[in-house]
Amino acid sequence: MPANPNESDVLIIGASAAGLMCAIEAGKRGRTVTVLDHANKAGKKILMSGGGRCNFTNTDISAENYISHNPHFCKSALSRYTQWDFIALVNDYRIPYHERDLGKLFCDDSAKAILDMLLAECARVQVRIRLNCEISSLEQTGDGSYGLATSLGSFRSSSCVIASGGLSIPRMCASPFGYRIAAQFGHTLWPTLPGLVPFTLQPDDKHRFAELAGMAVACHVSNARNQFGENVLFTHRGLSGPAILQISSYWHAGEAIIIDLLPGIDVVTFIKDRQATRPNIKLKNLLAEILPKRLIPAVLEQASIDKPLQELSRAHIEKIATQLQQWQIKPNGTEGYRTAEVTLGGVDCNELSSRTMESCKVAGLYFIGEVVDVTGWLGGYNFQWAWSSGWCAGQVV
Ligand SMILES: Cc1cc2nc3c(=O)[nH]c(=O)nc-3n(C[C@H](O)[C@H](O)[C@H](O)COP(=O)(O)OP(=O)(O)OC[C@H]3O[C@@H](n4cnc5c(N)ncnc54)[C@H](O)[C@@H]3O)c2cc1C
Repeated sequence: MPANPNESDVLIIGASAAGLMCAIEAGKRGRTVTVLDHANKAGKKILMSGGGRCNFTNTDISAENYISHNPHFCKSALSRYTQWDFIALVNDYRIPYHERDLGKLFCDDSAKAILDMLLAECARVQVRIRLNCEISSLEQTGDGSYGLATSLGSFRSSSCVIASGGLSIPRMCASPFGYRIAAQFGHTLWPTLPGLVPFTLQPDDKHRFAELAGMAVACHVSNARNQFGENVLFTHRGLSGPAILQISSYWHAGEAIIIDLLPGIDVVTFIKDRQATRPNIKLKNLLAEILPKRLIPAVLEQASIDKPLQELSRAHIEKIATQLQQWQIKPNGTEGYRTAEVTLGGVDCNELSSRTMESCKVAGLYFIGEVVDVTGWLGGYNFQWAWSSGWCAGQVV
């Protein structure tokens, strides 16, 4: 171990999911590791994740669950350190967890258990973690080593890992540090955008849906690029819920999203069948049997829903089915990085080794986790990317 505490084999910027995983693995190999973070606490996003219960991985993980300009890049890391490897670690620490819908694994009690596990592993292999550390510059010196100037003094190392995450949730200490370093060392950056983020609505829609705040509906939401069958949640500000967060990562400003409020139901047949058996029931009362009552006037015109079924023509029923199943909403925008769970875009994968995460341009420089142009779906995929990419770098730094 280098004698000077500010000298180490490996410097990692970012003491959260990816950085801590990398530190553990490098420490296990006998490397001296220092992790620097400007926050006053390690792993703030881990603590706030999954509503405080950390959706730490998913039982079903593949490259299709990730968005990247190079969709193949994540495959190597995800296959070398899989969800089962992380689950084994969680089991070793006897952390109780449960599976929710679509393979999502959550802690039974608190996300703190995951952070405590990572910190315990770090302590076991003597990783040094320095918090409240403002970094002013990072340079590579003539001998290829790295020098950092920080508020806690100068640090030196033979390799440097950027695990500083994306731009989401600035109040949780997110910063553009990683992108700035990537640009400084000649890396290409894909434009960044908030992902897994609620939509805001056009003023008219906001007014029209105001009464629906708090309502969750199981829907199928789609656009030209993807589709998700999960809940949509109406909020005071706009639309949220898992289906909306998922599609937001595939949304381009100005586009409409399409919501099927009755997925799996043949609405025309449903109404036609009841037209024969219950001709006097009003459409709104029939629909209230399969949809929340308050939602109906927000989607369909009052004149239609007040009609008894016997007064509806086939063409009218078809129009109603289209309105309910291809409900088009054009969001005004998103809530932005203030509430986004992730940041799309970032360090171009084509300039990194998919096996080690090392820069192809600068020896000894690594990028892992969310700062890289790999963004997962909602459901534990982002943490798995952080674990997998951190693990890969940890084998070689
Ligand atoms: C509200 C919320 C809930 C989420 N829930 C889940 C979930 O349940 N499951 C899931 O898979 N994903 C979830 N995510 C996404 C997940 O948290 C991130 O994808 C993941 O934390 C990325 O890990 P990372 O280590 O790359 O970056 P981060 O966790 O963002 O960590 C980056 C670290 O770098 C530090 N840093 C940043 N800038 C600097 C700087 N200039 N100097 C020094 N240090 C710096 C930060 O303080 C931070 O500690 C959630 C995100 C949010 C915001």
